[in-house]
Amino acid sequence: MRSDRCKFLVFLLAMALAAPALAVEEGGGTARARSLILFIGDGVDDHQLTIARNYLYGNVPGAAGFSFDRFEARGAAVVQTISEEDGSTPVYVGDSASGGTAIAAGVVTSRGRIATTAKTDRDVPTILELARAAGLRTGLVATSSITDATPASFVAHINLRYCEGPGEMQGVPGSFRAGCPRDEIAAGGPGSIAEQIAASGVDVLLGGGTEPFSQPTAAGVTPLDQAQKAGYTLVRNREELLGGEAALPLLGLFGPGTLPVEWAAADGARAETMRVAENGEAVYPAPQTCVPNPRFGERPTLEEMTRKAIDLLGAGGARFFLMVESASIDKQAHARQVCGQIGETRALDRSVQLALDYARTHPETLILVASDHGHAAQIVPIPSLFAPLARRLGPQYPPGRVAVVQMPHGGVMAVSYGSNQGYAEEHTGTQIPVFAQGPGSEAVTGLIRQADLFAVMRSALGLEAPPSP
Ligand code: MG
Ligand code: ZN
Repeated sequence: MRSDRCKFLVFLLAMALAAPALAVEEGGGTARARSLILFIGDGVDDHQLTIARNYLYGNVPGAAGFSFDRFEARGAAVVQTISEEDGSTPVYVGDSASGGTAIAAGVVTSRGRIATTAKTDRDVPTILELARAAGLRTGLVATSSITDATPASFVAHINLRYCEGPGEMQGVPGSFRAGCPRDEIAAGGPGSIAEQIAASGVDVLLGGGTEPFSQPTAAGVTPLDQAQKAGYTLVRNREELLGGEAALPLLGLFGPGTLPVEWAAADGARAETMRVAENGEAVYPAPQTCVPNPRFGERPTLEEMTRKAIDLLGAGGARFFLMVESASIDKQAHARQVCGQIGETRALDRSVQLALDYARTHPETLILVASDHGHAAQIVPIPSLFAPLARRLGPQYPPGRVAVVQMPHGGVMAVSYGSNQGYAEEHTGTQIPVFAQGPGSEAVTGLIRQADLFAVMRSALGLEAPPSP
């Protein structure tokens, strides 16, 4: 909102004026990392990671495993969220907006909010904004719409994540899309998330989002028009991104919203409600196998988007801040699609490997892998531990939906989705894992708060603390 926008802008201006001084300090001064690549696996917790690792690498730690399994530092972070009405009341399950805001801005807020404070609706500066004001190049890469809550938390300030385009600012009566009327341009606000992104000056923006970027404002222009007027080169498919048309500042929009995932279950298999046979035995669904998603299309993979972003941002030895999000670990878990989850976690892993490759030749690079909140999928025994009691106690099996996966390293794995009987699976309230590699990584140890990651990043890059909101 607006009340504090003046103080906030003055701070960013002061940061921009101080940028040459910070640059002088490079190498021996406050900045320990020249650049920072932050990965957010949306909905990643240890359980989601274990499901994917079991499938991709087997359940044997060691040489095989995720690229980030071998990072020099790892810790866990408590996910904190508060009530919108009463900031002193904790809420025990967060979302991508509150989790994104905690990481991006170091502020604990309520669900749905994008870089604004609960109830008081004050804008809070983000690590991307501080980095940009200090002269670093900046980038956001996501497999969701670039206007979705995770990337938005780094670049926009708005009371509700669903105000992605100009046409969504008034909300939908009777739904949870309550709108953001106070942030409309006509009300003196900064506009929808897409409008704020178009005006952001972020050097590289890659993801989905043609839909919100095509909604006209009251003045009849779209955020896409605004971005192109601001100098953005627009690319819309894999060939345009990789074929040499990409130039800074770059806006790549590769689909209407969330991009299709790389993997799917063969033959459209789904997690199913368990059934009980006539003889009283629990019947698990037939094992599914994971295959390339035939709907993926002519889009760049997360790995390709990450490679292009690092190439462009790091060109000429420039310092940069880049956030890369594998959005669909969350989205596929909501939809109970275990192969989709696994394929998206593989995409995260491969993208992190690219950052490690970059850090090999640019050792002053801090790489972080974090998450916004936990998710629903969990590995359950097949058959039940209590199957021998079935004759006496009746069939023993998980509630909700169950997917059984044929495992490349042998055996089958049963995954239970049991957090919501209805529309979609829920987020869960577990602590999230954090992995760190490079200068400043030692701050990631033991149990921290998710919002502490903001200070970890800020101090590694040598950026000044913003005024408290
Ligand atoms: Mg997300
Ligand atoms: Zn979610």
